Amino acid sequence: MSDNKASAEDNLIARYFAPLATDPGALGLKDDAAFIKPPSGCELVLKADAVVSGIHFFADDAPDTIAGKALRINLSDLASKGAKPLGLLLTLALPKDIGEDWLAAFAQGLREDIATYKCPLFGGDTVRSPGPVMVSVAMFGSVPDGMMVRRSTAKPGDKVFVSGSIGDSALGLGLRNGATWQLTDAQREHLSHRYLLPLPRTSLAETVLHYASAAMDVSDGLAGDLAKLCRVSGVAATIDASRVPLSAAAKAVIAADPAAFETAITGGDDYEILCTVAPAKVDRFRVAAMAAKVAVTEIGTIGEGEGTVFRDGQGAPLSFKRNSFSHF
Ligand SMILES: [Mg+2]
Repeated sequence: MSDNKASAEDNLIARYFAPLATDPGALGLKDDAAFIKPPSGCELVLKADAVVSGIHFFADDAPDTIAGKALRINLSDLASKGAKPLGLLLTLALPKDIGEDWLAAFAQGLREDIATYKCPLFGGDTVRSPGPVMVSVAMFGSVPDGMMVRRSTAKPGDKVFVSGSIGDSALGLGLRNGATWQLTDAQREHLSHRYLLPLPRTSLAETVLHYASAAMDVSDGLAGDLAKLCRVSGVAATIDASRVPLSAAAKAVIAADPAAFETAITGGDDYEILCTVAPAKVDRFRVAAMAAKVAVTEIGTIGEGEGTVFRDGQGAPLSFKRNSFSHF
């Protein structure tokens, strides 16, 4: 039997999500599918990343920050490929106890980030979850034909750069888990906020597109992600650990607890851009990054061979208990 009455799911979509589907190709979320046309001369860049309650965020995090995190980790990947966001699909798996207040706050966070990052909704799905909340985002971006920046194309002699600052999020998670570092309220707030809501370097995408020889975003820790980039590029890297950019808050933690340096560079959730730049392009890369208002720091050099080594200020190699964060 069917009738003309809208289902509860249709009402939910109409109220909270249809207003976010501003692209004509989304058809107001009223069709079975949507369509998207990349700008002429461009290829689509595809990415999907999900977050799960209890693993990537805390169940009692504000719903708007959960929406923000789910979107931003995908935006970070697109930026590291030199891509401009075009839109996204969203799948929500929600347990029974999630009420309309939660959903309204979630949609509000989504709305703000969709506006900020100009990345409208094209569709998705909502399903009942017998377990925790899961938010899955599939995101589409565009790059000029053949220009997506890869991980596998770093060359010996290239300089290694990283954006922003490293380790804030891992240390913020440490605070969330009860670490008792002596910090000012502002430092505490800085670290906690970097964990809660990443700041994807979308404004660096064009600089990466034009000047980077290889790039990826730092999501599982600088040390481990650099090792991945070197492995697929078939190269080695030497990093000066004393040049890894740290925020004032992270410096304060590490000054009091030197072991926290390892957490900072292996802990993950940075969502900064790690890239390599050929020596002849370094000056132009720096100028373009400055124009994009994103700090970039040269931390080392790519060489022949394999493996990555971090050296301290005196040149002695550092060793880490683990290279990167893994959920498995
Ligand atoms: Mg990534």
